[in-house]
Amino acid sequence: MHAVERIDVPGQLKAASLRMKLDDTTAMQLAIAASRRALAAGNRPYGAVLLSAAGELLLEAGNRQATDADCTAHAEMVLVREATVRLGTAALRGGTVFASGEPCAMCAGALFWAGVRRVVFAASNPLMAELLGGELLPARCADVLAGTTPPVRVEGPLLEHEAAEVLREAARRA
Ligand SMILES: [Zn+2]
Repeated sequence: MHAVERIDVPGQLKAASLRMKLDDTTAMQLAIAASRRALAAGNRPYGAVLLSAAGELLLEAGNRQATDADCTAHAEMVLVREATVRLGTAALRGGTVFASGEPCAMCAGALFWAGVRRVVFAASNPLMAELLGGELLPARCADVLAGTTPPVRVEGPLLEHEAAEVLREAARRA
């Protein structure tokens, strides 16, 4: 019912057409699908999805560290930046982010400052370290966001096995 008011704004057409309520499993499947696309494009194998406070799908994003030559272009950071530009800062307020990999300390902080109030991840930080190795920022998302005002709920792992398949594929390619 909100689609009509957005229809004359080209940049928001896609977002308007995506406005549907999603359950947690479907939202995470989209985040994992985004992680596959990121890997296929030559980036790190991570994806993230933003749902509004009302549970509507707003935006999907994948990691772009390689394609953007930007070490901060984690999927969650790309998601926050694109949502802010395309939908406005209010779109993130009270929202939920589904991430195929547990958000790192940088992304957890960005999600908090963006006003996201629930974070759900698939692959845990220890599993990512086990499967991919390399650099490790070991702080857990729930620890980074513990005691914030207002509070942020951190949940996971959800569909960890499916997310791990993409990580294993990335490890095989490395
Ligand atoms: Zn991150």
